[in-house]
Amino acid sequence: MMKMYYDSDADLNDLNGKTVAILGYGSQGHAHALNLNESGANVVVGLRKTSKSWEKAESAGLKVYETADAVKIAEIVMVLLPDQLQAEVYENDILPNLSPGNALGFAHGFNIHFEEITPPPEIDVYMVAPKGPGHLVRREYVKGGGVPSLIAIHQDSTGNAKKIALAHAKGIGSTRAGVIETTFKEETETDLFGEQTVLCGGVTELIKAGFEILTDAGYQPEIAYFECLHELKLIVDLFYEGGISGMYHSVSDTAEYGGMAKGPDVINNETKDRMKDILLKIQDGTFAREWINENKNKQQKLNNLRKEHKELQIEKVGAELRKMMKWLNPDGIISNREAKPEQAPV
Ligand code: NAD
Ligand code: MG
Repeated sequence: MMKMYYDSDADLNDLNGKTVAILGYGSQGHAHALNLNESGANVVVGLRKTSKSWEKAESAGLKVYETADAVKIAEIVMVLLPDQLQAEVYENDILPNLSPGNALGFAHGFNIHFEEITPPPEIDVYMVAPKGPGHLVRREYVKGGGVPSLIAIHQDSTGNAKKIALAHAKGIGSTRAGVIETTFKEETETDLFGEQTVLCGGVTELIKAGFEILTDAGYQPEIAYFECLHELKLIVDLFYEGGISGMYHSVSDTAEYGGMAKGPDVINNETKDRMKDILLKIQDGTFAREWINENKNKQQKLNNLRKEHKELQIEKVGAELRKMMKWLNPDGIISNREAKPEQAPV
């Protein structure tokens, strides 16, 4: 049975006398650090000496240390580094500086679930995973609200792991909205499945296919771009606000009938079988091994795929068309995100 936790189920005092080290100051890191700090927790930020975020965190009034030093002085260590770098940082900077009874937190279960990181038994291991990007976690908190989070306990050595997780969730504002308990396994597997088959992979391929079919049939690429990519935003906003019924309620009867009657011809049992196959490869660890190897291989395939996608006609057409849309935020989520490193270290 699903259990939901709210403000009254969590106690910020469970963080009393403890220092919380937030490792990383990116999308999630800055939000956890600032929100927890304003909630009264004793927060330090752990970064590499060379990090561009060092000054940003300091000028926001936070104490910043090198990763290993931050772990040393903290009782609670929240790992908000890119997932593919966490195992290396864990070996070098985290594990040597953990003390028995410390708690190690994550916002995604990949490394724990696939055993890239296996903390010693005397460490509490928990998850607080906001169901939204960091800028929203920060913005909602400032407004007095919060973004829902998932929590999970992987290891409870002290008997306090869940209290810590709930206090952490409260400190970032999530218990104002509601916190759902899950497991590292469930969060990791559903997250990977969602991003591969629906959110990132599925939607992108659907857009690409629609655009290609229309342009191959002789329609103007600009029209195809609007129809297959640009207008998705209107539809997604409707989903977000009112689910599938809300979306169908708001479009024309023609779109409603056409969508419901013809959509299942696109996503049929054959498609579902391939999605199930992807789920199996996530569950049995095949995808995790592939991704870990890809990183050992300096993300060669990823870089080729990136290039391939940049070269797509829809990308070139889109870049030109978006210049017509003066309202698109030049200072938005995408431009505010730190550039991805060209290559992940091995
Ligand atoms: P990010 O890429 O935005 O930020 C990573 C931060 O780590 C940056 O500040 C970077 O400078 C720093 N960093 C990189 N290498 C480092 C190193 N070797 N030592 C110290 N610092 C280093 O990452 P993110 O999107 O905030 O993701 C962090 C975690 O949160 C991941 O586990 C991710 O799965 C999870 N998560 C992200 C989101 C999201 O929407 N972004 C949502 C939920 C969970
Ligand atoms: Mg994800």
